[in-house]
Amino acid sequence: MNYFEYRNDQLYAEDVPIADLAARISTPFYVYSARTLRRHFRVFDEAFAGTDHLICYAMKALSSLSILKLFASLGSGFDIVSVGELMRCLRVGADPGKIVFSGVGKTDEEIAAALEAGILMINVESRPELHRISEVAGKMKRRAPVSLRVNPDLDPGTHPHISTGHRDSKFGVPLSQVDEYYAEARDLRNLEIVGLSTHIGSQISELAPFTEAGEKVAAIVGRLRTAGITLKCLDLGGGLAIPYQEAMPPPSEYAAALLKPLAGLGLKIITEPGRVIVGNAGILVTRVLYNKETDVKRFIVVDGAMNDLIRPVLYEAYHNIIPVDRRKLGRPVTADVVGPVCESGDFFARDREMPEPKSGDLLAIMSAGAYGFVMSSNYNSRPRAPEILVDGADTHVIRERESFEDLVRGEHVVTLKSA
Ligand SMILES: *Cc1c(COP(=O)(O)O)cnc(C)c1O
Repeated sequence: MNYFEYRNDQLYAEDVPIADLAARISTPFYVYSARTLRRHFRVFDEAFAGTDHLICYAMKALSSLSILKLFASLGSGFDIVSVGELMRCLRVGADPGKIVFSGVGKTDEEIAAALEAGILMINVESRPELHRISEVAGKMKRRAPVSLRVNPDLDPGTHPHISTGHRDSKFGVPLSQVDEYYAEARDLRNLEIVGLSTHIGSQISELAPFTEAGEKVAAIVGRLRTAGITLKCLDLGGGLAIPYQEAMPPPSEYAAALLKPLAGLGLKIITEPGRVIVGNAGILVTRVLYNKETDVKRFIVVDGAMNDLIRPVLYEAYHNIIPVDRRKLGRPVTADVVGPVCESGDFFARDREMPEPKSGDLLAIMSAGAYGFVMSSNYNSRPRAPEILVDGADTHVIRERESFEDLVRGEHVVTLKSA
């Protein structure tokens, strides 16, 4: 469910025609729908009604300040993976007491910044990290709130680049060692054990792996209780899929599957949804430059590129691509939709059946809200695209297109002594 819809065959973001935006702002650009963001957050939140819970939006999916501010205003906490993300949260006045810090490679500076800010907990991913956090906290004369991230050793059946809960993955503490880790953590004076966390991957379309993870977590909680270690919360990560192409289970079914094995434990439930909240709330708008035909293939060359949206080549991701104006559609063709970057991997779609657009036509690349803008780069010295937030009939430029000066900021042109 989202608020990008056709009215009289013209694509709108809420009450704003995309074509009107494109008349004012040059392409490519991202558009987000505030109404969709709010709705997705609320539907997810309501799925956990009746359970003591906290949603920590996984901000790596989309981390622009105005988006974070919107979520903070809805009562969301945040799952961060770097000090940069922490600073973004603090910049918009987010409550540090609702921030959890994930990731396998936190530096001393990042640990200190998180403790200084007073975040809810640090999710620990290895034994050396456990000791490092204890040392940093000791130097600061504080106790660090920690949770251990357990790797539940299961296969969520997704693309290998976005699966994190298998035993081969770099993430989390092995299931077989988690009890030892907790015992060790208990003996470190500068640590306060708060919870247990897990996150099994992303774009997970089956509910069984969530239940399986919950069962493994419940078993650990039981053993820890016997050992005299009590937890306050369980952080069950994110990972629910969105319908890029096929229908996906709704948050209510996801919550039921996740909570089933955990009912009766009496622990606060934290979730870290990213994609499912923002994925379908954003699109990338691009303009057709050329129609190119070779002996064997047809290409639609657009002004957006892999530096703007890398998901198709990085994850073999499917994005629906639709015309912004469908009043006069071209004949059906099968084509690759490609950008100007000098890489064969620079494509948005391959062998896609679509009405043939003309040069100058606008196309919308759908479901680009998650892992879209945040992964954009300056490859080929392309400025990063602007981001527009639509709210009803209002439009807000929440990030401007980068300028050439932005592109060369921090560079020094040196004159070398040798010839
Ligand atoms: C990426 C990530 C998430 C969010 O995953 P989605 O698939 O976007 O919901 C949650 N928790 C952790 C630890 C992550 O790394």
